[in-house]
Amino acid sequence: GDKGPFLNEPPWDWSQAVHRKRFAAALEDVRKKFPMKVPLVIGGKKISVSREIHSINPNAPEEVVGIVSSAGREEAEEAILAARTTFPLWRDTDPGVRAEYLFKAANVARGMRYELAALQVFEVGKAWSEADGDVCEAIDFLEYYGREMIRLSAPQRMGQVPGEISHLFYEPRGIAVVIAPWNFPLAISMGMTCAAIVTGNTVVYKPASQSPVIGSMVSKIFEEAKLPPGVLNFLPGSGSEIGDYLVTHPQVSLIAFTGSKAVGLRIVELASKTPEGALSVKNVIAEMGGKNAIIVDADADFDEAVLHILHSAFGYQGQKCSACSRLIVLEENYDRLVDRLKAAAESLHLGSPENPQNVMGAVIDPSARQKIMEYIEIGKKEGTLLLERQVPGSGGHFVPLTIFTDIRPDHRLAQEEIFGPVLAVMKAQDFDEALAIANSTPYALTGAVFSRSPANIARAAKEFRTGNLYINRGCTGALVGRHPFGGFNMSGIGSKTGGPDYLLQFMVPRNVAENT
Ligand code: NAP
Repeated sequence: GDKGPFLNEPPWDWSQAVHRKRFAAALEDVRKKFPMKVPLVIGGKKISVSREIHSINPNAPEEVVGIVSSAGREEAEEAILAARTTFPLWRDTDPGVRAEYLFKAANVARGMRYELAALQVFEVGKAWSEADGDVCEAIDFLEYYGREMIRLSAPQRMGQVPGEISHLFYEPRGIAVVIAPWNFPLAISMGMTCAAIVTGNTVVYKPASQSPVIGSMVSKIFEEAKLPPGVLNFLPGSGSEIGDYLVTHPQVSLIAFTGSKAVGLRIVELASKTPEGALSVKNVIAEMGGKNAIIVDADADFDEAVLHILHSAFGYQGQKCSACSRLIVLEENYDRLVDRLKAAAESLHLGSPENPQNVMGAVIDPSARQKIMEYIEIGKKEGTLLLERQVPGSGGHFVPLTIFTDIRPDHRLAQEEIFGPVLAVMKAQDFDEALAIANSTPYALTGAVFSRSPANIARAAKEFRTGNLYINRGCTGALVGRHPFGGFNMSGIGSKTGGPDYLLQFMVPRNVAENT
């Protein structure tokens, strides 16, 4: 292809009044459409059913963002049938043509950037810049995987033996089920879905039940890009009702999942039992949770570190798989850094994300709130409460911005993913101990180190074993094509999103050798 090199979609520069004005206008426009009525899309047909998901605004739960048709098994079966029927045609569509649909979809999404981000402020409670970042990432996945497919579509000549021409090439696996989380409601859904599509699979995509309206935008974007009907089937519905059915279905060859460890491990287990009449052994890609740490070395730049720590720990209320939930500080700086961190955390603006100055609003739903509040109670027993700042406002699913000190590696606050704005500060005697603490959880997703010591930076690069490690910057905000993203151990199986190996997981390699 002649697309030119991949470049990340630039986020809006909020210092320009035009973006602030347009975003405020987009918030008003989008709100006028509430509650949005969202059907299923199966084989290109919009289907409404009587069972519904009410998607609500976490900062104002009386506001219904969307009323979304909720699929049961019958509709799940229809969606699989549509994907099955469409598969041969899509498999045999030229990879370059498939990539063109992604580039068209990227243009459609670009034209809807304000709207797509504004919707996230209401449906999942993202701050303006976080919402915009998610939309940019979705566009990045389209542009990046489109180019990747073009790269991978060239057959590779194997060996140079006279009398033989041997080629290695890739084909799609079949029907892919995509199961997505709510926390990056467009980007992660789009990333998994467009990877499956561009590699020639047909897709049944189930969004998270907290973000089905944004999920429907994946379907809408591809509809506007004129993707053939049946290639992408949009199937909102409850994971507990249709999840196992989709995962164990004999006609499904691939499951691309991003979400919690509990659901991910369940999918791995169920998918390993090959049902009667199965078309293939199922392949599972499962991106799961994290318990990510930032280490602050003795010689670190505190001004820089404190800003990044706050953003990594409390940006989007800590509801990122990459969020910092452990801060490991060298003893000689501990008191100084903790004082600075507390003062800085006290200065953050909290409240509804409709107001762009607020960095932290409500968490996603009542059960998330309850789980986080339980961890705060556990933290009060295990450690010392440094800061507990309530989010002003009433009615929303608010939890306080919370920092604990005196947390030790064996504490639950140091081991379990909380997925909320709760930071555990831990003390290390030296850099060795800091690394040991950093590596002491079941997860291995992201991490960061603030240091000016080349020797310690080099050691961290080798010995701080996470999927994504950042030096002298925070541990969130991976960019497609620059920071291929994903972890190992209990953080997931599969290769990195936004990286050169990702698409290979959606395909089977074939070799044809001709005796000439
Ligand atoms: P979740 O509860 O695991 O849900 C994820 C998806 O799985 C949802 O669509 C859910 O549907 C579905 N599901 C539930 N039960 C299922 C079943 N039995 N079979 C199949 N699917 C089922 O996770 P979440 O709360 O949405 O997301 C937060 C988690 O995701 C955190 O642990 C976070 O660390 C992780 N995450 C990881 C990454 C990464 O790249 N590693 C990125 C983002 C998030 P319903 O909504 O209908 O229940």
